[in-house]
This record gives sequence, structure tokens and C-alpha cells, in this order.
Amino acid sequence: MNAFARELLRWYDHHGRKELPWQHPRSAYRVWLSEIMLQQTQVVTVLDYFQRFVERLPTLRDLADADEDTVLALWSGLGYYRRARFLHHAARLCVERHGGDLPRDLDALMALPGIGRSTAGAILAQAHGLRFPILDGNVKRVLTRYHGIEGFPGESAIEKRLWRHADEHTPDERTADYTQAIMDLGATVCVRSKPACLLCPHAATCVAHRDGLTTVLPTVKPGKKIPTRAVAMLLMRDGRGRVLLEKRGTQGVWSGLWSLPEAVDADAAPAVATTFARVHTAEPLPAFTHVFSHYRLDVSPLLFDHAAPLAAVADRADRRWCDREDIASLGLPAPVRTLLDHLPEIAP
Ligand code: SF4
Repeated sequence: MNAFARELLRWYDHHGRKELPWQHPRSAYRVWLSEIMLQQTQVVTVLDYFQRFVERLPTLRDLADADEDTVLALWSGLGYYRRARFLHHAARLCVERHGGDLPRDLDALMALPGIGRSTAGAILAQAHGLRFPILDGNVKRVLTRYHGIEGFPGESAIEKRLWRHADEHTPDERTADYTQAIMDLGATVCVRSKPACLLCPHAATCVAHRDGLTTVLPTVKPGKKIPTRAVAMLLMRDGRGRVLLEKRGTQGVWSGLWSLPEAVDADAAPAVATTFARVHTAEPLPAFTHVFSHYRLDVSPLLFDHAAPLAAVADRADRRWCDREDIASLGLPAPVRTLLDHLPEIAP
């Protein structure tokens, strides 16, 4: 075991997180689920989602047997829904190909949707104690600083160097603890802004700390401005308080989720609304912006209260008038759920 791993494990024994729900028990299914939830999301946010998910779907087979709406409803609010769809699809492939378990093999794991090399390594190291390195965002940050590596970590040459370092530091013993330890260090000490170097077990040997480079490493992605799109969302509510929802198709950021009908802008909204119901004048609700990783969406919500559903437009598998209970059981994008949670009472 090299000095980096030794110091890190000594730190972990005193300060690491040992009571996370996926550590007890540390099964491959639970480690996998936590790893997928933790991509792009902080531990504090994941805790409740994880508990709810494993209470409802305690095993990989339960996940494979669940329908997509159930999985997306459990994921609703965590964002990046592609993760949930991949998880679901991968569980079904494990039943088909691997007897209902996650394989204990790096290549077979990486052949499953949504599992990259780092996630596969984390599953093998944490669930089975096998010696495989990981390189998630937190680990990249620790290693670029520790070794003083300049250049955007997403570039392939830089990433290769980081994998080499990740591999050389991963010990043969206590691999599961080491894996948790380096993730914890990145999440709690070597944080993005203002790392707590004085509390870090590597302060004496870290290049970024020694050379005053902690604010410039890791190197940020070369600037790219994200585009903005605008849309009007139609909240059609009938006299019984039911709202018209549509299930999105298989493409796009909210694919498979239930959302509101849309129009290109507020002027076009009444024409869209009248294809589903007889409506009165719409009341504009406060506009908001939702930021995705690759674009910003400016949303203008319009409330059409006392809409009278057209008899000729029947409920279908992908479009229906939903009451509160129905809405609670469906997977909705977080901003749409927030909108529906804050609707004004129906005017008499
Ligand atoms: S000394 Fe500071 S910059 Fe270096 S690894 Fe520790 S927390 Fe990160």
C-alpha cells in the first residue's frame, strides 16, 4: 500500500462516512443504485431517495419486474432521468443474461447501460472488495490537485493520466474502505471551492496546496455558452381539479415522464388548449427558468381553469386527466411537480 492510500485510510478511520444506508448491507445492487443516484447529486439529497427506492424495490429482480412509471416516480425530483431508465433497462438485462445478479466482471458490468468504468470499479471494489480503481468527479478533483495536473480532466490525455494515478493509489487490502475514503475526501474536504487543506491527510505532499493552485485546479472546461429555449406550458384544470397530463415520448430530456401540454408561446397556447377542452381565457402564472446541462428552458405557465374536457378526446395510455392521487403516483419532471404543488385553489 503506498503512502497516499495509507494516509487516506488513517483519515477515513476517524472521519470517513461509515453509516451510509448503502453500506449496510453493502450488496452489489445497493452499491450500484447509490452510485447511479450519486452521479450529479449530493449525498444529502440521495439519502431519502435511496431509502424510498429500496423499500419499494429491495432487489434487482424487483427493479426488473417493476413498470417504468413506478421507477420514474421513485426517481421523480432527482433529475437526469436517463439514469433511471438505464438502471431499469440494465436490471432487466441482468435477469436475462446474468441470472438476476450484477456480474462480478468489469467488462460485463461496463456492457450494461449507464455503467461506465468508474461505476463498475466502485461496484466491484465496494460490494466484493476487488481491487479496481474509480475515477468519479470527486476523485478527479482530488487527483488533479494532489498531482498538480493542469488541463481539463474531461480531455482524454488528462483522463488517462488520472486513471493511471487512480490505479497506482488503489491498495490491495481494504479496497472497499479506500474507495469510500477517496469519494468522501473529495465530497467533504477537497471540495470544489475552498478546499479544507488544513484538515486534509495529504496536505504535506499535495502539489496544489504547496503551490497555491487549489483555486485553478481542476482546470475548467473551455468556455461554452449554453443556448436558451422558450416554451408555454398549459395547465388545463377541469371543475373537479383534474389536470391534463401527457406522457413524453422516448426522445428528449424528460422522455418517459408525465408533463404538461406545451405551445411555442403564450399566443399559440389557446389554440393548443382547444384541441383538448373548451377553455376560458388563461391566467398567466409566474414564469421561471429551468437549467439543463446543455440548455436553459424559459417556461411561461398558463392556467386554464374550469376547462371542460372534450368528450371526443378520450383518456389514453399517454394522455389523461389526473387527480392529485394519480399525479403523486406518476414520474414528473421536478419543475412541473413544483408548479402543480403550488397551483392556486380553483376559483368558484
Ligand atoms: S491538500 Fe487541499 S487541495 Fe490537496 S488534496 Fe488535500 S484538500 Fe485537496
